[in-house]
Amino acid sequence: MRTTCPYCGVGCQLEPEVRAGRVVRVLAPDLPPNHGALCVKGRFGLDFPFSGKRLLYPMLRERKGAPLRRVSWEEALDFAAHRLHETLKAHGPEALAVFPSAKTTNEEVYLAQKLARVLLSTHNVDHCSRLCHSSSTAALSRALGGASMTNPLEDIWKTDLFLVVGSNTTETHPVIAAMIKKRVRQGARMIVVDPRYTGMAEAATLWLRVRPGTDLFLLNAMARVVVEEGLWDRAYVEERTEGFQAWAESLAPYTLERAEEVTGVPGERIREAARLYATTERAGAYWAMGVTQHTKGTATAQALVNLALATGKVGREGAGLNPLRGQNNVQGAGDMGALPDVLPGYAKVAEEEARRRFEAFWGVPLSPKPGLRMTEVFEAIPEVKAIYLIGEDPMTSEPFQDHTKAQLEALPFLIVQDILENETTPFADVVFPAASFLEKEGTFTNTDRRVQRVRRVLDPPGEARPDWWITRELGRRLAALSGRPWPLHEGPEAIWEEIRRALPGMMGGISYRRLEKEGVRWPCPSEDHPGEAVLFRERFNTPSGRARFFPVDYTPPAETPDEAYPLTLSTGRVLFHWHGGTLSRNSRLEAAYPELKVEVNPRDAARLGIADGERIFVVSRRGRIQARAWVTDRTPEGVVYAPFHFAEAPANRLTQDALDPISRIPEYKVSAVRLEKLD
Ligand code: SF4
Repeated sequence: MRTTCPYCGVGCQLEPEVRAGRVVRVLAPDLPPNHGALCVKGRFGLDFPFSGKRLLYPMLRERKGAPLRRVSWEEALDFAAHRLHETLKAHGPEALAVFPSAKTTNEEVYLAQKLARVLLSTHNVDHCSRLCHSSSTAALSRALGGASMTNPLEDIWKTDLFLVVGSNTTETHPVIAAMIKKRVRQGARMIVVDPRYTGMAEAATLWLRVRPGTDLFLLNAMARVVVEEGLWDRAYVEERTEGFQAWAESLAPYTLERAEEVTGVPGERIREAARLYATTERAGAYWAMGVTQHTKGTATAQALVNLALATGKVGREGAGLNPLRGQNNVQGAGDMGALPDVLPGYAKVAEEEARRRFEAFWGVPLSPKPGLRMTEVFEAIPEVKAIYLIGEDPMTSEPFQDHTKAQLEALPFLIVQDILENETTPFADVVFPAASFLEKEGTFTNTDRRVQRVRRVLDPPGEARPDWWITRELGRRLAALSGRPWPLHEGPEAIWEEIRRALPGMMGGISYRRLEKEGVRWPCPSEDHPGEAVLFRERFNTPSGRARFFPVDYTPPAETPDEAYPLTLSTGRVLFHWHGGTLSRNSRLEAAYPELKVEVNPRDAARLGIADGERIFVVSRRGRIQARAWVTDRTPEGVVYAPFHFAEAPANRLTQDALDPISRIPEYKVSAVRLEKLD
């Protein structure tokens, strides 16, 4: 039975072969987006649903300090609904938060954010995009009026130049990386901006090894070359954009000399990159966390948007602005409104017309005040008194872990809904065991806006239930307590039908029947519409229809190396594992990559007397972890790279919680550390 990979945002189509309740083999059909290709995670990492760590029964604890005990679904749901309702009555909607999961289906995310807004009256709704692409969302939304890849993945075959910034695509989106590299072998060129010698850097025509956290300076310097040398697209800028002049003037400080000093990249190479990008008509920009996870993440994404607009790259085939989304359904989670400032379809909470539309649709009044973002919710504990947490593990994913632990300990009420035990489960007051992707129906939306089916291949184990069922049943009880409307959907397709009615211009033409054949990309307003491939061909989704330039200034990272902590720590992922490791480390992939290896440059290793393979401490102002040193010049001198998948040696014990002022994303990519030998 065909379904969609639960790991990354590529959304590969796959066919798990099940025998005796086990996945014994995974095949891939010749369908978009992957056309038969799978990476190691899709091929060999799908056995996590059979892990001994599966949550099988509902559990609750009466009071803090008491043990979790197994209870019936009735008891767990009643208990949770009463506690949420009491919190709402006593402390108001701002004391509650709901975090839907980008691992779950569109239908499940939609229902969870609806529960928050309709039954708990709160916009304190957010998801893991806060920690990955919230900076891209902020930059793209204000400049273009839409936050997604502007171009489809098929456009890779039409692209003549790739500008890849801060994306280790080979390990994080392997199937896309393979497509891009194949296109490069066919003759396209590729500029890669990255401090590390990644698989993409290896395949690049031009690799710009920036110092961590200086991409913004480099992009502004490229833009200055474009303006100074008259390489900008005058007709495009005049017809389709606004704010060019003020932006062009703001680039004055970004000379190549200064850029060389700040970024470490020779000025002439920056000039070469600027000329290449500006003069190649079909040039597509691709980026990921290296751009976004900084205190200036929004500004850096904006610098990339500005550069693309000045050179007329948006709304054209084979070009565009393409943030590579991480989670399987992180695009869908945003589309479904799992964000504190927007309703489904990115309708702004603060805009009266949008709000009125959903008030009429759902039959309840909605507050005009946007809610708190995920990182702000954790800061607001104990004023925030209850969290309904779905498929998230903040103990692993939030920065500055010791602080997160203290906040979770101070939280009066936590519901954890998940498929597997994780580092956050011990803090739960109620545990709802959820069904995995193999055990339910629904849809995911991949990184290029393609809505695809998820199909039930197995029954859930024990008493685990699909997330939509759990949210529906919790909602049923909250509705009885509050008297608010809560239609009981029979299943995922009925929820999807409500989504289609809520978002007619975006999802109206996408039915389950249509998805039987293959995925369909939004916007798709009618059943005979093929789904829009390239966005903004004619006009942007802004009030004037024009895209907007926003001048952005470089600021250094919040924490820079000093005598006590002389190295820069950067965090990220490896091919074999996935985010907090809850899925991949409970699969066969664990055997391939079982422990934390920290990349250390040979010069730093020699100076500190550290041998390849030696166990060391990595220490920051916030804590220390033990790791094995991997001495390699993949990572530049002065920089240490640590994957964040290992709960027993969590990289996020070291990272800092300094936030971007707009997106409120933490600066995961730059923290000051030192290395210590074990003895
Ligand atoms: Fe799954 Fe992504 Fe790998 Fe495709 S590239 S198999 S979606 S993890």
